[in-house]
Order: sequence, then structure tokens, then C-alpha cells
Amino acid sequence: MRATVMYSAGDVRIENVPDPKIIEPTDAVIRVTRACVCGSDLWPYQKMEHVETGRVMGHEAIGVVEDVGADVRTIKRGDFVIMPFAFSDGTCVFCHDGLQTSCIHGGFFGTTEVAGAQAEAVRIPLADGTLFPVGAHADDALMASLLTLSDVMGTGHHAAIIASVTPGKSVAVVGDGAVGLCGVIAAKRLGAEQIIILGRHADRIALAKDFGATDVVSERGDAAVERVRELTGGYGVHSVLECVGLEQAMNTAISIARPGGAVGRVGVPQEQTIPGSEPAFYNNVTVGGGPAPVRAYIAELLPDVLAGSIEPGRVFDRTVGLDGVPDGYRAMNDRKAIKVMVKP
Ligand SMILES: [Zn+2]
Repeated sequence: MRATVMYSAGDVRIENVPDPKIIEPTDAVIRVTRACVCGSDLWPYQKMEHVETGRVMGHEAIGVVEDVGADVRTIKRGDFVIMPFAFSDGTCVFCHDGLQTSCIHGGFFGTTEVAGAQAEAVRIPLADGTLFPVGAHADDALMASLLTLSDVMGTGHHAAIIASVTPGKSVAVVGDGAVGLCGVIAAKRLGAEQIIILGRHADRIALAKDFGATDVVSERGDAAVERVRELTGGYGVHSVLECVGLEQAMNTAISIARPGGAVGRVGVPQEQTIPGSEPAFYNNVTVGGGPAPVRAYIAELLPDVLAGSIEPGRVFDRTVGLDGVPDGYRAMNDRKAIKVMVKP
């Protein structure tokens, strides 16, 4: 089959690789009907050291089950499924706690160990715990939004949950990428009254407003902090969704939280330390977050996607076949595309 293989920073190729097959009896293999390029794929795209064997990329997909191992009980051939970006057994103590990204038998797709989904097919470890079958006959128009439940919509929702968004709260979303935009949807869905998007790309800001953002702050650094304070009676917001992962974004996030507020961080951190320790301390700001257990959120978010009451699939502004994936990486890296969908 054909798959997207990254060898080093900037070196993304479409190559023929061996077809995925059942290795463990708990595996499934799915034919990928939609995959996509993630903002977090851009970190290796910018920094990855050369790997001789390459790395099959991609951790977001929906598809149809083609084969299952002998011990797979609930997933069947022909099921239309959502593949969360992490695999998990669904039975361990952390899975029971709804934190499947910490599953003791789990792991992540698109690593050097476990092949990813920017490909014609992908092997799914622990299929019963990992895959979420979409029972309903989903309309083609819903595919993009269903695909976001494998990562970005669940991740935006996680940021909002960790930041304690509840009805009537004021919320700021740091970052206008796909996750930040989904964070706006999540904040609105959870009843936030004021939603401030921090970003500066006109197309993304327009989408954020459509999704429910009430205010836009395009300044950066101290000027951004000042502007958010102006918009919130001088105090800052109750909840901050940090959807970037860079030091400056985290500093801003902590500085715009009001005393007693919370920051939910889902941007993959690019530093070893969390900045803003002192203001976080003196303002009693709770800082939390991490890889979103999107598997736990699908059951809650799926009905809203099927009903069309949320449309996170609008974050995709470009669709490519596998041959177009290297260009897709380039476009996202150059901020010429918000998020690229792949139809293998
Ligand atoms: Zn588990």
C-alpha cells in the first residue's frame, strides 16, 4: 500500500510500504477513508532528526474495518469507525478514569514503533478499546466533522474541560489553529458567555467568529495581555485554552487568567519548563492539561456532530490525495492552510 513516510525535517515522501496486517489477536486493520495532517505533525516536520527507516505519519483517521484478530469482540469487519490518536485497551485503571492517553498498554499512532494513518490502511492495536464504531449511516457531508473527533475537536474540548469552562464564564483561546478553533466551538458548547480568540490570520478569525468567538485580540505579548484585561473589566478571563505550545503562548495564557482562573493546555510543549510560574502562583491560577483522552469524549461529542449542531469539520480548508500530502505539510507549515484533509 501507499503511505506517508517522514525521514527527517522537511523530508516527507509517499512510498510503497508493506500492507498492515493482524499481528496480535487484539488487532484490527482499517481501510482509511479520511485522514489529515495535524499541527503537531509540524513539530517533526521542522525538527526531526534523520531516521533511516522513516516514520509512517498520521494519527487521525476514520475508516472501515477490513480485518480483525481472533480476540477482537466488539469491533466487526465492515464497521465504520473513528480512530483516536492514541490506542488504548479500554480496561485498565486509567481507561476507567477516562484518561485513555495514559493507558498502561496504550501508545500513539504515527511513531517510529506504530505506523500512522496518512496511508491507505492502518493496523489498530487493542481494537476493542481503541476504535469507536459510528452506528449511524453517516452522510458524506459529515465526514470532515467526524474526522475531527479523532483529535482536534476532542482536544479543544479537553482544553475547555481542564480550564473549567461552564455556563456564563469568560474564556480566552490562545492560538487560531485547528485546535484553537475547535476550542472556540467547545467553549460555546459548554455555555461560555464571552469567548476571546487570540490570533491574527483573517481566515481563521472569521471562522472563529462563526464558531462563537465574541472578541478578537490580534496583539501579542504584553499588548495582548493588556487588551484581554480591557475586555474583561481589568481582571482577565476565568478560563484560558492554550492551543499552541510555545513559551510566549503559555506566558500569555497565564497572564490573561484572572485570579482563581484556570489554564487548560493542549498545545504540545516545545520547552522543558512551564513559564509563568510566579504570576500563576500569586494569582492562584490552576495550570493543567496534556494529551487529550479523545476516546473518552467521542460519545459526548458525536451526537452533536451527527445532528449538525457543531461543525468542527469546517477547520479543513484543503483536501488532497496521498500524492498531495507533502504539499499539504508545506501549506500548513507556511500557514497557507488551516488543516489539510487526506483522501487516500
Ligand atoms: Zn487502558
